[in-house]
Amino acid sequence: MDILINSLYSNKDIFLRELISNASDALDKIRFLSLTNKEVLGEGDNAKLEIQISLDKANRVLMLRDRGVGMTKQDLIKNLGTIAKSGTSAFLETMQQGGDVNLIGQFGVGFYSVYLVADWVEVVTKHNDDEQYVWSSSASGGFSIAKDTEGEPLGRGTLIKLHLKPEAMEYAEESKLRELVGRYSDAWPPYQRLVSADAPKKTRKVKRNEWDLLNDAKAIWLRSPKDVSKEDYHKFYKAVSKDVGGDPLGWVHFKAEGDVEFKTVIFVPKTAPHDFYDKYYDKGAKGALKLYVRRVFITDDAEELVPRWLGFLRGLVDSDTLPLNVSREVMQQHAALKTIRKKLVRKVLDLIKSWADDEAKCRKAEKDKEEGKEADADEEVPTGRACELYGDFWMQYGKAMKLGVIEDITNRGRLAKLLRFYTSKSPSTHTSLDEYVARMKPGQKDIYYLAGSSKEEIEKSPFLEQLLRKGYEVIYFTDVLDEYVMQHMVDYEDKKFANASKEDLKMADKDEVEKKKDKELREEFKKLTSWWKTVLGSAVSSVKVSSRLSTTPCVVVAGKYGQSANMERIMRAQAF
Ligand code: ADP
Ligand code: MG
Repeated sequence: MDILINSLYSNKDIFLRELISNASDALDKIRFLSLTNKEVLGEGDNAKLEIQISLDKANRVLMLRDRGVGMTKQDLIKNLGTIAKSGTSAFLETMQQGGDVNLIGQFGVGFYSVYLVADWVEVVTKHNDDEQYVWSSSASGGFSIAKDTEGEPLGRGTLIKLHLKPEAMEYAEESKLRELVGRYSDAWPPYQRLVSADAPKKTRKVKRNEWDLLNDAKAIWLRSPKDVSKEDYHKFYKAVSKDVGGDPLGWVHFKAEGDVEFKTVIFVPKTAPHDFYDKYYDKGAKGALKLYVRRVFITDDAEELVPRWLGFLRGLVDSDTLPLNVSREVMQQHAALKTIRKKLVRKVLDLIKSWADDEAKCRKAEKDKEEGKEADADEEVPTGRACELYGDFWMQYGKAMKLGVIEDITNRGRLAKLLRFYTSKSPSTHTSLDEYVARMKPGQKDIYYLAGSSKEEIEKSPFLEQLLRKGYEVIYFTDVLDEYVMQHMVDYEDKKFANASKEDLKMADKDEVEKKKDKELREEFKKLTSWWKTVLGSAVSSVKVSSRLSTTPCVVVAGKYGQSANMERIMRAQAF
C-alpha cells in the first residue's frame, strides 16, 4: 500500500475521478439489471440514478454517495479487502517502467487511491440481496466489516466517507471539488453529479441540504448537435478518450435511423494515439470506440466497430438495435454491426474529405489571387484554421490512410482521393492525385513515380532526367508504404502508375522520327551491348540502348516484372 501511495503521490487529484468512475460503474450495473426487472430500482429517491458529493467541513470528511448496486458483505471482502490483487503488481510494474499514473483505473486498483488524501475510509453499502454493512480501514492496518446498525439506511447503494489527512484539507473546499468534477468529465458518464458544501443533515425535517447540479445529465450523444457547444465536445472528448494531448481535430455526431438505429459521437484526436502505429497489428481498433446498447455501457473493446486503419478514432456508439446481452460471438456475427460500421466509416471519411476539400479551395483561392484572378462570388472560401486541418491530419494519419488503401477494398477509391505526395512540380507542398491528373500533359497516359529513401535522393536520380526534361511530373515516394499502396491501386482514374525506375517505362510523345533514331542507335551500339551482356553474364537480364537519360551515360534499372530497387531495400530492412 505504501508503494502504491508513494507512486501516486504527485497525482492526488485522481482519487475523485476513480470514485466517480466506481460510482458510475455501480449505477451502470443497477440500470442494466433494471432493464429486465424494474423492481430492482425501488421507488422515490432510490430510483434516482445520481452521484452526490458532499462535505462535512467541521469533521474533515468528504462523502461520495451513489445509488448504484451496492455491495454485499462478500463483495466488500472480495472487492475492497484484498490489496494483493493481481492488478496491484501489474500496475506497480507499469509505474516502475515509467508508465502514466493516470492509467490506474485500468488495473482494477483505483479504489486505493483514496488513501492519497484520507487516512481513514469508511464504506457504507447496501445491496438488494443483503443488509447494510460498513467497511472501514486505515491505509496501514487491516480492515473491518460490521453490520451497520447505527447509520442512516441507504435504501440501496454506497456511501464512501473519506476522513481527510491534515495535509489534504484542500479537498474540503467546495471550489476545489467543483473544479475537479468539472475537469474529470462533464455529461460523462450520463449520471447527474451533485455537490453540496454541507453534509446532509438527518435532523432538519423539511429542507435537507442544497444540492447543486454539476453536470448536465443528458448525455451528449443523445442531444442534437445544434444544442452542443464546442466546449462541451472538447470536454466530452477528454473524458471519453483519456487523451491529455489537447482538443480534437474534429468530430462527427449523428443519429442513424431506419433498420439499424444508433447515435454516435466520434473524434479524430489531434495526435495519433501513442501506440496506434506501434501496435497496429496487435491492437487494431480495440479501444477506439465504446459500445453502448440503449444507454447501457457494454464494452470498450469492440474492435468490430471500425476497421483497423481507423483505430485512432475515439468516441462512442449507442445502439438501439443490438440486443442487450450482446456477447463477443453475437457481436461478430450481428448484421446490425456491419451496417453500423459501414455508416461510421462513411461519415468519418466525409469529415476527412471535407478538410481535404477546404484545403483545395484555400489553395485555389490563393493561386487565383497570385494570378490576379477575380474570386468566384458564389464560391465560399474557407479561411484560417480550416485551410490547415487537412495538412495536420495528413501528418498524423497519412500512414493510416495508406494502410486503408492496402487493406480495405471497399473504401480504396475514396481513400485514394485522400492520398498526398510530393512531386517534381510540387516538391514542398503535398499534392493530390487529382491535382496530378489535372496537370498531366496532353497524350500522357501514365502517372509517373519514383521511389527512394528521401526527396533529395530521388531528385538526384538519373531516372528522372528525361521525364523532367520533357516536362512530365513525377511523384516522389519516400514513405516505405508508398510502393505497397501503388501495388494495391494499380490505376487511378484509368491512368496506370508507371515506375520511373523500371525497364518498360514509356513516354507518350515519341514521334516517328524519334522512333527511327532509336532504332538506328540500337543498331549502331549492338556490338557494345552484346559485349557488355557477355561480361556481366547472369547478373543482369539484358543490356539495352535507352532514351530515358539525358546527361547520365548509363543506369541500372529494375526488370519489368522484378522488384524495384527501393522495394528490395525495404524488404531487406523489413521496415514494415
Ligand atoms: P475497478 O473499478 O477497476 O474494478 P477499483 O479498485 O476501483 O477497481 O474497485 C474495486 C471494486 O470495488 C469494483 O470492481 C467494485 O466491484 C467495487 N466497488 C468500488 N466502488 C464501488 C461502489 N461505489 N459501488 C459498488 N461497488 C463498488
Ligand atoms: Mg474503479
